Amino acid sequence: MKRDIADKLALEYNNLWDDSMSALPDGWITPLVTMLDKLEGLSNVDRSISYDAKGLATWVDVQVEVSAICASAYAAPLKPAGKWNPARALACIEALSEFSGQCSETCSICGQPGLLRMPNIGDPVEGVLCDVHHAEAASKVDRAAELYNECRILFPGVHGKAIDLHVPDYLFDLLASCLRKVKEVATDEGGYLEGKVQITRIEMIEGQLHVRHVYDKMPAGAVAAMIDIDDTLRYLEAQADELTRKHGGSNAAS
Ligand SMILES: [Zn+2]
Repeated sequence: MKRDIADKLALEYNNLWDDSMSALPDGWITPLVTMLDKLEGLSNVDRSISYDAKGLATWVDVQVEVSAICASAYAAPLKPAGKWNPARALACIEALSEFSGQCSETCSICGQPGLLRMPNIGDPVEGVLCDVHHAEAASKVDRAAELYNECRILFPGVHGKAIDLHVPDYLFDLLASCLRKVKEVATDEGGYLEGKVQITRIEMIEGQLHVRHVYDKMPAGAVAAMIDIDDTLRYLEAQADELTRKHGGSNAAS
C-alpha cells in the first residue's frame, strides 16, 4: 500500500499496527481495517464479566503475511492464558480468518469482488483480481513478452530470471524506449555489431531497476556506439530510480 495510507493506519491503530501490514496491496486495505476494528473490539467482548473494564486494545500482537494469491494474519496473545475467555478467543480467531477469506475474494488492486487466478497455458496471470484488472494484467504480460521478442537480439540465449521485463507499470515505457534505442545502435550500420552487445541483466531488486551489459569482441570503430549504449542504459537506471521515488518508493506492491 502507499506509504501515506500505511502511516495513517499506523497512527489510527497504533496498538495493533505492525509494519508487515504495509506490504498489503491497496485492494486489501478494507479487509485489513475490518480485521483491525474487530481486534480492537476484543476488549469489548463480554466486558461485563471482564476483570479489566478499561478496554485494552492490546490483547494481541498481529502480523500479516502476503503473497500474490493470499494474505494471512497471525496473532500472538499478549494477555496470559487465564485472562482470556471463550468469547474473546473466538472473536479473535474469527477476525483473523475473515481477513484471509475476504482477501481471497477481493481484487488486490481495486478492492472490488475478485477471483483467484492461477497461471495456466495462455494466461500466465497470478493473483486475486477482478475481471478488469485481470484483463489489464494479461495485456501487460503480453506487452512484456512482445518487447522481449522485439529486442531478443540484445539478450543472451540463456539467462534464467536475469532478464525480466515485467517492471512496474510506470517504468515500462521508459524501459521500452531505452531498449529500442540500444537495439537501434546495436543493429545499425549493416549489423556489424550484431550479437556483440549483450544485456545480461534487467531485474527489479528491492524496488530498484538493475541493468547490466557486456560487449564481446567489439570492432575498433565501435567506440561511439559503445558510449551511446552506456549512456542510454545509465539514463535508464537513473530515470527508473527517479520514477520509483515519485511513485512512493518500493513499498507499494506493484
Ligand atoms: Zn480490480
